[in-house]
Amino acid sequence: MMEDYKNLPCPLQVMSLQVTPFVSYRHACACVEGLIDSGQKAYSVAVNPEKIYKANNDRELADLINSAQVFICDGIGAALAVRVLYGRAVRRITGIALFFELVKKASEKGWRVYLLGASPESNKGAYDTLLKSYPGLSIVGRHDGYFKNSGKVIEDINRSEADILFVAMGSPKQEQWLSENRDAIQASFCMGVGGTFDVVSSKVKWAPAICRKTGTEWLYRLFSEPKRWRRQLALPKFVWFLLKYKLAGNGKL
Ligand code: UDP
Repeated sequence: MMEDYKNLPCPLQVMSLQVTPFVSYRHACACVEGLIDSGQKAYSVAVNPEKIYKANNDRELADLINSAQVFICDGIGAALAVRVLYGRAVRRITGIALFFELVKKASEKGWRVYLLGASPESNKGAYDTLLKSYPGLSIVGRHDGYFKNSGKVIEDINRSEADILFVAMGSPKQEQWLSENRDAIQASFCMGVGGTFDVVSSKVKWAPAICRKTGTEWLYRLFSEPKRWRRQLALPKFVWFLLKYKLAGNGKL
């Protein structure tokens, strides 16, 4: 992909991954708008402590995440890393909240949206809810995230002439799929959104506002889905790892 991405802030290196320092949701949306208006192709991944930690020991994972162009600072741990390494505050931009902002913008601007991922019920539930909540929204296609033939799905996406493709297949599956298939997909902007369709379809509850404000969504998730506790261990491991990394003289002192 030979693009210059002048309309995007320069990403900051956070260990083996990167973070795009957006200053607000409005800023992030304006950048996506710039990409779509100029017909540039880009895709976005959410960067969180779990991914930073894993990618540090997994070159292949780091490369496939770094093949994106937009790296949202998804969660307090990633924001903390930027603060520790650069002494700089960066706005936390969660994938799900940015998803809602972009959907709202899409309904105002007439962007065509495609929903890929989640179970067939959850995908349909998300579609129904979005159409009800954003009457002007143009959802031009959708497909669940359990398919074997990517070629057929990509054909459907391209036929729909979508401007934005949301991919909700969890990590690292969605990053893998996007990095392999981004070039074949004509939509201007693609974004990995993890479990977002499960929340939109009400299969899973969104973290309460207090957790969203304080950046403690991980704590809510730990209590509401205790079987994910292993994944949540990534945060304390990450903080320890970050401190060691900084003490070893990395980052801006
Ligand atoms: N999923 C999918 N295809 C797969 C595996 C998972 O579409 O092959 C969906 C799954 O149904 C769920 C989402 O991906 O809706 C994963 O959600 P999770 O909250 O685990 O996302 P993460 O925290 O990994 O971003």
